[in-house]
Amino acid sequence: MIPALEALQRLREGNMRFTSNLRGAGDFVSHARLAELATNQEPFAIILGCSDSRVPAEIVFDQGLGDLFVIRVAGNIVAPSQVGSVEFAADRFGTRLVVVLGHTQCGAIIATLEELQRTRESQSRNLAAIVDRVRPSVEPLMESGLRHDMDTLVKRAGRANIRASVSHLRHGSQILEQLIQEQGLLVVGAEYSLENGTVEFFDGV
Ligand SMILES: [Zn+2]
Repeated sequence: MIPALEALQRLREGNMRFTSNLRGAGDFVSHARLAELATNQEPFAIILGCSDSRVPAEIVFDQGLGDLFVIRVAGNIVAPSQVGSVEFAADRFGTRLVVVLGHTQCGAIIATLEELQRTRESQSRNLAAIVDRVRPSVEPLMESGLRHDMDTLVKRAGRANIRASVSHLRHGSQILEQLIQEQGLLVVGAEYSLENGTVEFFDGV
């Protein structure tokens, strides 16, 4: 398995190909690769990303079949099943890089802000389970005087939410903590820009 920093470099290069419109679609459709992967996989990075239709990890990092182990959930939140999925991949495949991939203008962040500002009717309990996990990142910002500056609020809250997920993965699992201390597992936070397609790694690198 390739080390975390090398994996990070691969993702950076892939995102550069994506933003430069140099995508190598070959890997997506290679049937030889399909057969190779039928019995084995060695994904070089684990991505916990948002479900947003505009942020598919394989495409924005220009990767093919078998390259990424991807968990997607609205708001890239960390609940027990997400921790379990990351543990599974890191432990089973030896993958050494975990990226929490949020993005600008995230609907889950906006929904949480609207809920806190009471501009929105109460929602389903299931959706509330997501909002409740985003809320701790957003609430302090609401109280800091940014209340009426929605643009800045969404930007800062998005980043705070990514940082919170990174921290939760780093400290919310004994298995991951041990892999970090002893096996060079790296958990980093990144934000995808819907505006220009670039991924900025801003936490833990
Ligand atoms: Zn989102």
